[in-house]
Amino acid sequence: MNVHDSERIGGLLEAQGYLPVPAGSEPDLVVFNTCAVRENADQKLYGSLTKYIYTKEQRPDFQIAVGGCLAQKDRGEIIKRAPWVDVVYGTHNVGALPILLKRAQIEKEAQVEIKESLEHFPSTLPVRRDSAFSAWVSISVGCNNTCTFCIVPTLRGVEKDRPTTEILEEIRSLVAQGVIEVTLLGQNVNAYGVDFGDRQAFAKLLRSCGEIEGLRRVRFMSPHPRDFTDDVIEAMAQTPNVMPHLHMPLQSGSNRILQAMRRSYRAERYLGIVERVRAMIPHAAITTDIIVGFPGESDEDFQATLDVMAQARFTAAYTFQYSKRPGTPAATMPDQVDPEVIGSRYTFLHQFQEKISFDESQKLIGSEVEVLIGDHVGRRDAERGRVAGRSEDFHLVHLNYEPDKKPQPGDLVRTVITEAAPHHLIASGLPISIEKTAGSYAAEVRTQAISLGMPTFSNPEQTR
Ligand code: SF4
Repeated sequence: MNVHDSERIGGLLEAQGYLPVPAGSEPDLVVFNTCAVRENADQKLYGSLTKYIYTKEQRPDFQIAVGGCLAQKDRGEIIKRAPWVDVVYGTHNVGALPILLKRAQIEKEAQVEIKESLEHFPSTLPVRRDSAFSAWVSISVGCNNTCTFCIVPTLRGVEKDRPTTEILEEIRSLVAQGVIEVTLLGQNVNAYGVDFGDRQAFAKLLRSCGEIEGLRRVRFMSPHPRDFTDDVIEAMAQTPNVMPHLHMPLQSGSNRILQAMRRSYRAERYLGIVERVRAMIPHAAITTDIIVGFPGESDEDFQATLDVMAQARFTAAYTFQYSKRPGTPAATMPDQVDPEVIGSRYTFLHQFQEKISFDESQKLIGSEVEVLIGDHVGRRDAERGRVAGRSEDFHLVHLNYEPDKKPQPGDLVRTVITEAAPHHLIASGLPISIEKTAGSYAAEVRTQAISLGMPTFSNPEQTR
């Protein structure tokens, strides 16, 4: 969500004539887009802000803006602690940034503007997308749940759904610009429709995406097990461009802890969804999020999480050690778990999942996959004469190629998996086929535009 917000901030600023500068050069403006979900977000922010005191003293026209969840939370406190900051804006008024920057310049005074709720759905703002062929598309913002460890509802507000016609229009316009993959984005995507009273709206949206010609891949994140209904599994299974990958946060396998987390599903329901997904989409990869050491978690509760992991056989689990987030109910719960206990449970759980991930990856050796080549070639891939991308089920695949036929970003490559590690796959033979897509050409054009110092933002209002 924050990454996509950063794309909007970039687009807004490019539309005002700003351009990104290469690392190492002196910018006229620095914008911090903060995330309060991360641990020690405030320490990191104030530490980073301190680096700019000297620049501000030397160049008074240089500006610093702070936005995102931490700005929404700390508000005017930021200016008190870092008086050299020019603008503080919240999660509900990203679009106000250019005006606030101008006002700070004219009035020579810091501007703090925080709105309590969203006035306009932010995806009508210009966007400077990180990729020419793969795009985030917001379908909702905010969340109606009240998970006791989470600060999101406080800072992002209640769920606001975007009209389906507007979402589909944006996707069609993106496809016309060369995008071949979209990821539908929301705090709880399968609650989509709650705002306008349609419980099946998300499944219908997936099916409508299936009708968009030229859209090769549809992904979504994140669903909530409570709202996950069978119509979504059916839509996934029956819509060819919806990818066979489900990222569904488990958080804990203990019903007692799920209740304390105010996650309104139980382990049995979670495993039931996994079972139905596997029955209808046997080749689907399922990934999850797990929190270790939530207040009150006993050895038995921890074991219950391991038991669910053993049954679900996740391809990957993003595991987090519980730590207090100020302002959340869990932060003041009794029975906080000793950090050392959390640390050792985390290590055990991590190793436990590594083994499952490795075993699941091994099963893919010999299978043929389609890989969408990514924008960047890592150092190790470059040294080994490889490129990398994501398979349909979201595995990271490193692949070899013939020297004069290097796959380019946006290409769809068919190849065979020859080796497997817990977190990536390798295809060391030559590709079976390399398909140039609209995304390949869009990526090329974008690279040229950047090398010529041209802006690359798109304005949804104009492209529609
Ligand atoms: S579902 Fe829970 S964890 Fe996810 S954003 Fe909403 S409150 Fe936070």
